[in-house]
Amino acid sequence: MDADDSRAPKGSLRKFLEHLSGAGKAIGVLTSGGDAQGMNAAVRAVVRMGIYVGAKVYFIYEGYQGMVDGGSNIAEADWESVSSILQVGGTIIGSARCQAFRTREGRLKAACNLLQRGITNLCVIGGDGSLTGANLFRKEWSGLLEELARNGQIDKEAVQKYAYLNVVGMVGSIDNDFCGTDMTIGTDSALHRIIEVVDAIMTTAQSHQRTFVLEVMGRHCGYLALVSALACGADWVFLPESPPEEGWEEQMCVKLSENRARKKRLNIIIVAEGAIDTQNKPITSEKIKELVVTQLGYDTRVTILGHVQRGGTPSAFDRILASRMGVEAVIALLEATPDTPACVVSLNGNHAVRLPLMECVQMTQDVQKAMDERRFQDAVRLRGRSFAGNLNTYKRLAIKLPDDQIPKTNCNVAVINVGAPAAGMNAAVRSAVRVGIADGHRMLAIYDGFDGFAKGQKEEPCSGRESLGADASWIPGKASLREGCRQLPVLPPVELPVFQGAGDVSQGVREKRSVLPGKYLEEIATQMRTHSINALLIIGGFEAYLGLLELSAAREKHEEFCVPMVMVPATVSNNVPGSDFSIGADTALNTITDTCDRIKQSASGTKRRVFIIETMGGYCGYLANMGGLAAGADAAYIFEEPFDIRDLQSNVEHLTEKMKTTIQRGLVLRNESCSENYTTDFIYQLYSEEGKGVFDCRKNVLGHMQQGGAPSPFDRNFGTKISARAMEWITAKLKEARGRGKKFTTDDSICVLGISKRNVIFQPVAELKKQTDFEHRIPKEQWWLKLRPLMKILAKYKASYDVSDSGQLEHVQPWSV
Ligand code: ADP
Ligand code: ADP
Repeated sequence: MDADDSRAPKGSLRKFLEHLSGAGKAIGVLTSGGDAQGMNAAVRAVVRMGIYVGAKVYFIYEGYQGMVDGGSNIAEADWESVSSILQVGGTIIGSARCQAFRTREGRLKAACNLLQRGITNLCVIGGDGSLTGANLFRKEWSGLLEELARNGQIDKEAVQKYAYLNVVGMVGSIDNDFCGTDMTIGTDSALHRIIEVVDAIMTTAQSHQRTFVLEVMGRHCGYLALVSALACGADWVFLPESPPEEGWEEQMCVKLSENRARKKRLNIIIVAEGAIDTQNKPITSEKIKELVVTQLGYDTRVTILGHVQRGGTPSAFDRILASRMGVEAVIALLEATPDTPACVVSLNGNHAVRLPLMECVQMTQDVQKAMDERRFQDAVRLRGRSFAGNLNTYKRLAIKLPDDQIPKTNCNVAVINVGAPAAGMNAAVRSAVRVGIADGHRMLAIYDGFDGFAKGQKEEPCSGRESLGADASWIPGKASLREGCRQLPVLPPVELPVFQGAGDVSQGVREKRSVLPGKYLEEIATQMRTHSINALLIIGGFEAYLGLLELSAAREKHEEFCVPMVMVPATVSNNVPGSDFSIGADTALNTITDTCDRIKQSASGTKRRVFIIETMGGYCGYLANMGGLAAGADAAYIFEEPFDIRDLQSNVEHLTEKMKTTIQRGLVLRNESCSENYTTDFIYQLYSEEGKGVFDCRKNVLGHMQQGGAPSPFDRNFGTKISARAMEWITAKLKEARGRGKKFTTDDSICVLGISKRNVIFQPVAELKKQTDFEHRIPKEQWWLKLRPLMKILAKYKASYDVSDSGQLEHVQPWSV
């Protein structure tokens, strides 16, 4: 049954696990406080990783209440008891608020119940309240044991044997209100729910010229409100941490009426549940509605989202996050010594880290204190870097100076989309254009990629014009290269198409595939000269990167290319060197995950079945691998990890074994280019033949659905933030050159902007060349390969798991402004 991955490439997976054994240990896992999507994925990971390392794992039902009540509330978990829960929202083991656990008496009972099963390792998934409780419990543990011994409930030996309680927390909360982690489990899914509602409301509201006041959760934390405002281009947002200035009532009404005057048919105002003014008085959605109605007379509706935000299936990101955290939590428990403080496992960039639980709780409480004391700047600072960054970007894009107050730079900046569409490209274009205009540039849109660039004004009228709808005015379809964006100083109503479109040709700067600038260098140089282009922003995938390299190489010959050029990665494949993520990959991943859920579900009630699903990505296995992790696949074949017939055989055997259990469905993902000869058809036929009599097979090639769909909240925000950043870079470069006609010839003036370990970095294409496998169009190093063993472990394969980037207890870093 166990397959060995010893044929995995060296380097990406280093040795591990021999020194970690859970034999003889018992781990209790509970979910407490408010539920959140993704908690089940965390429970599943804890159970499976626990069993994998040889420990016993116990479910503790109904949160702390179950721990206090004991009995059947504490039950041993097995591998199958967590099957088919990855896609389920909420928590299958139940959550509760428990008064009794707040008392010592209650905790004494809880300790006794744990001891009866030998549980001295506790994994708590909940919010700061639950984690505080866990910490207190740990601190009191030895005292509780002595008391139990005094009462004769346990003997002296037990006091010694179970002397220490190890506690590890994972933060499950849709509010993202916990300091120390970039994302709490559930937040991304809640954002999905909010954006689904906003998108739905937008279409109806647009038909009637309405104002919508949307109240989202977050009694003490404005993260959901802020990020959804950013993702939908809301007119105004109210947050607890950053109350509006005095006189906001009038300012808001002016803003709304200005937007209406620009023919914007729809106003969206987002309010966090706990929004307050500078005097700490609540700002309610009803109050806002009243204001808009009395002051402006607009047709205004309030929508309070409530529990919808907690509902539905977890997003791909939450499933992956929770799975990673769950595995990390078990490792942390096994590595804990009596001196290790209770810790939380959290996310820093795309790294799992451990932080002392109480440091995080303390800082979380400090935010509340700062708000209570009206030290709002402190509150924003304590919330962390990403919060402040989001707030700044929102303000930058939402607040526009009147035209006559923007100092003009007399610079022309062109924006071009290259390569296949990726969801979120439009958000990137929008933000670049807005920031560019605010910085005083004239913004130009280039249609049809490099091909269109070369053809310049001579291009045929664009047939997509009619379908441009609301954004026709800002990117006219007449010619390939137009000043369309220059008309943008009035910031026309571009939100809807910009955000909803998946980078579709009819809805943004048009793109065209597969034309590199190399063969048109003369023409492009001519266009650059004719239109006096001072800087270029390229939004695209690997082709865009190749194009940038060609332009870079051509600088010597064509001085027109000696201008700042920057590329933001946008491709579903996530294969651009220089960035951990690319715009569009998250949406594609969610599409794959949703589809896998449906496909798996389609087999319920039928006999044993294995699905083979082919994903996109060229040679890059990101989508197959991460989709496999999010959907709970049994295997994911990728190019980066070569496989042979023995692997296929062991996978078939693995599935045959699995079918003997109560889990009678199998899921196998295959990247489209993972092997020249082991094609999807081949694998399907092999599995069908080998599985005869045990299971039958179905295959699905997902195809272009992976490039379509409404962009996920992450892609909208990522696109928005990264291209705003790219524009800032362009502005800074142009400032350097001002009046001196500077020629940009150095490598650092032609870059890819990416994120790496959550830092945005500009990397010269010339340097990135060394990191690129050009033959297969992938970066030589890919961070997500280190997650590969995770999927195997969770699917019951033997795998080595590299813990080289975990295991260290770090400290919470407040972000200083
Ligand atoms: P959250 O974990 O979402 O912040 P709560 O604050 O309601 O939710 O906490 C959930 C449960 O954790 C409480 O019902 C209680 O049982 C336990 N708990 C919270 N704070 C403490 C504390 N200071 N001491 C002991 N138990 C606590
Ligand atoms: P930032 O820190 O870039 O302003 P956010 O607040 O939106 O971004 O998110 C915090 C972190 O969580 C980021 O570093 C990002 O890498 C990660 N993250 C959040 N949502 C997703 C997602 N859906 N896919 C991948 N990474 C995500």
